[in-house]
Amino acid sequence: MSFNLATMLRESATARPDKPLMYAGDAAFTYAEVDALSGRVAASLRALGLEPGDKVAVQLPNLPQFVFCYFGILKAGLTMVPLNPLLTGPEVAYHLGDSDARLLVTFESLAAAGMAGARSAGDVPTYVATLGGSVPEGARSFDELLAAEDGGDIYATSSDDTAVLLYTSGTTGKPKGAELTHFQLYMNCTVAGELFEVSAEDVTLAVLPFFHVFGLSSVLNNVVRFGAGLVLQPRFEAKVALDALEKHRCTIFAGVPTMYVALLQEDLVARDLSALRACISGGASIPGEVIREFEEQVPGVVILEGYGLSETASTTTFNVSAEQRKVLSVGKQIWGVEVRVVDPEGNPLPPGEDNVGEIVVRGHNVMKGYYNRPDATASAIKNGWFHTGDLGYQDDEGYFFVVDRLKDLVIRGGYNVYPREVEEVLYEHPDVVEAAVIGRPDERLGEEVVAFVALKPGAGVGPAELTAHCKERLAAYKYPRDLQVLEALPKGATGKILKRELRR
Ligand code: AMP
Repeated sequence: MSFNLATMLRESATARPDKPLMYAGDAAFTYAEVDALSGRVAASLRALGLEPGDKVAVQLPNLPQFVFCYFGILKAGLTMVPLNPLLTGPEVAYHLGDSDARLLVTFESLAAAGMAGARSAGDVPTYVATLGGSVPEGARSFDELLAAEDGGDIYATSSDDTAVLLYTSGTTGKPKGAELTHFQLYMNCTVAGELFEVSAEDVTLAVLPFFHVFGLSSVLNNVVRFGAGLVLQPRFEAKVALDALEKHRCTIFAGVPTMYVALLQEDLVARDLSALRACISGGASIPGEVIREFEEQVPGVVILEGYGLSETASTTTFNVSAEQRKVLSVGKQIWGVEVRVVDPEGNPLPPGEDNVGEIVVRGHNVMKGYYNRPDATASAIKNGWFHTGDLGYQDDEGYFFVVDRLKDLVIRGGYNVYPREVEEVLYEHPDVVEAAVIGRPDERLGEEVVAFVALKPGAGVGPAELTAHCKERLAAYKYPRDLQVLEALPKGATGKILKRELRR
């Protein structure tokens, strides 16, 4: 059977050609326009001699060109390799080499790193998209990729062909390319989108970067699959995001927890967010306190939390509705996906808060494997079950709870301390804006619990008072012995707090 993920763009464009697919600044592009422009990219790439299965790396923020490239690459039967815009030259070189990318598309402000990386990876041809700036010497203009005529073709890939190579560190080691197929990505956005009834009436704010699975699958694919609208934001800024939510009367907002935390620093009550009908959180656990405050300030809106990984084409479990959700839980598995909690030997554990084990997943959403890495693939997928490296449990009603990353677990004097539990307590303090807890190697105890917090502007509270706040609420072995106040916690391009930076 032949199948190509890009057919979902064609179907939506056929059903509603004149409907705006995306807004970017003052520009808007209809479904028919995106279908045609991505067709031009597809024809240009084929004219350059790229063959089905070849890889094309794209290092772009959320700009219209990302969307043209994505669907163009898919239509040509090629594989998209999205790259984080924050990568440095040597990192770009690593990703290009590791993925065997034949071509790089980048953006003017990223071009220096991109071109340096492309040179050391063996002179990979580089195309640069600009917003009015000039194309650096030695690179080609993105406009050249729009020069060919759109023949309307969509290459007949099979459903098991790799559509996207998504780089992730997985549980260990260097970044690896998770191979996500056309079928998987189609299933994931279809099943997840149906759960919260996405329709052509919806408008989603795209603040999550498309190079990451959450933005790619749960935002971009989701919108295109159901013929909805997208408002592109090249980077997240709370004020700008709120302006866009109001101006475009967005109905869906999807973000990582730190984005909700940043939104809460704004005057939400003064904003007209009446069009919002669904807020989705994922990528990291969202503190209960953040959910409570947000819902108090934006009446009628609930935050629905989901859970997933790059290797699971995004959504794995989800809290489907206001009525059925459980705060602090990541919900239940989506259709066609099995989730279990297992002990270190791989035996399933019964439900119960005390039965914490590794979360494993099987189903249509699990990647084919890591590109060119049979060993890493074999240690991640055992007997058909993908091992997530996350610790969690299931309750009697089938809801899953993610307790922590296996690698973030702190073992202090033989006792397990789940950083998330300590972070929840810190977030309960009215002056705390962000919190992260890590383990620091300790000769006597193995590891010591260390907390980092960022405070509200003008907050007078100090480390001693915050430590006392934790001590009152947590068992003696859990509360942080070292608590440091930072201006802000380090975050990656997706907005997730980077614990590895804090460990350093
Ligand atoms: P990534 O591959 O970058 O999407 O990262 C996947 C990891 O993000 C998972 O293995 C989890 O550790 C974490 N994660 C995603 N969603 C959640 C959630 N709702 N709660 C807790 N952790 C999450």
